[in-house]
Amino acid sequence: MADNALYDILGVPTKATDTELKKAYRKLAKEFHPDKNPEAGEKFKEISFAYEVLSDPKKREIYDRHGLKGLQEGVHEHGGFGADDILSHFFGGGLFGGMGGGGRRKTRQRGEDTVHPLKVTLEDLYNGKTSKLQLSKNVICSVCSGQGGKPGANVTCSTCQGRGIKISLRPLGPGMMQQIQSVCTTCNGEGEMINERDRCKPCKGKKVQNETKILEVHVDKGMKDGQKILFRGEGDQQPGVEAGDVVIILQQKPHEKFKRQGDDLFVMHTITLTEALCGFCYVLKHLDGRDLVIRQAPGNVVEPGSTKMVPGEGMPRYRSPFEKGELFIKFDVQFPASHFADESTIMAIEKLLPGRPAIIPPSGEHVEEVDLHDYDANERRDGGGGPSNAYDSDDEEGGQSGPGVQCAHQ
Ligand SMILES: [Zn+2]
Ligand SMILES: [Zn+2]
Repeated sequence: MADNALYDILGVPTKATDTELKKAYRKLAKEFHPDKNPEAGEKFKEISFAYEVLSDPKKREIYDRHGLKGLQEGVHEHGGFGADDILSHFFGGGLFGGMGGGGRRKTRQRGEDTVHPLKVTLEDLYNGKTSKLQLSKNVICSVCSGQGGKPGANVTCSTCQGRGIKISLRPLGPGMMQQIQSVCTTCNGEGEMINERDRCKPCKGKKVQNETKILEVHVDKGMKDGQKILFRGEGDQQPGVEAGDVVIILQQKPHEKFKRQGDDLFVMHTITLTEALCGFCYVLKHLDGRDLVIRQAPGNVVEPGSTKMVPGEGMPRYRSPFEKGELFIKFDVQFPASHFADESTIMAIEKLLPGRPAIIPPSGEHVEEVDLHDYDANERRDGGGGPSNAYDSDDEEGGQSGPGVQCAHQ
């Protein structure tokens, strides 16, 4: 793993030429020389060390490949670069304190994840699919290597005086003020900014540039609505911050025919009364385009609202797509319309069907013959008083006392 700390100290990009290095070093050495600037002794040591390493092609190569840790190991293996004491300064606290000892990397701050929804159909989740997703993201500017401008061009933000935060007062009430702390918008909380004339032109000093990237998203067989697909480190880049992930969240569009529950599929099918009584055969187009021929032998009556199961025709299981859930079919039975036949036909049908109970109505003062009307719950909904609710609750009570029910049982 490479780090850019030594380049950062000299304020040069990682691709800096020897001449650029020398120039940067001379400028900084002058500025921080202990003769001139006695308080900057440590800083001067860092600058000298950075230049010593980067101006030596061999050391620079080791540093570029393995970072400071590589240099430290180099010291022990090859008897040193003559900079052992400075290295120990780097590792033993101070600037790179977090990296000391076992060569642990300082835990870098991690950028935010970028979340994208991806709409998929149930067919996509059944068959699998590769989607190309175009997204725009920030990448470290390649021209300035994320420096934002010329080396040493950073100046303290004048809006926040380098604190990165802005404090404003807001009146809360009479004689009361609330203090609000917010991130400084001038420097985005960095406390530093770059003078306009020194700004890197391509990124306008923002250190990052926008780039369009195409991600290939593999939707695997059996994936589910809401499932996340991760692209590690593909989030926005920002100098000094580990890029976050791109998180794709699958969003399944509702299917007009199938509903899914876990690995099982549910489908409704309406048959006619004749089919319900005499058997049927129909073709169901599956999610992979196959035609499933579904047959019910004559003599097996299908009740309205009953459910039947086709084993192994549900969704493929995620990560083991040869195993599948079940397919459940719920049957609705469509009865013939009113007055579908004349009286003699109805009598003929009745002869074919199981007999019906013969009721002899009781007689007397307490018996009253009433009218039976067609009833449409939707029509009466705005009639006030919630007749549909009343109907529902009657229904739930299980018809203990409904006169019609009593009649049928007598
Ligand atoms: Zn730039
Ligand atoms: Zn600021």
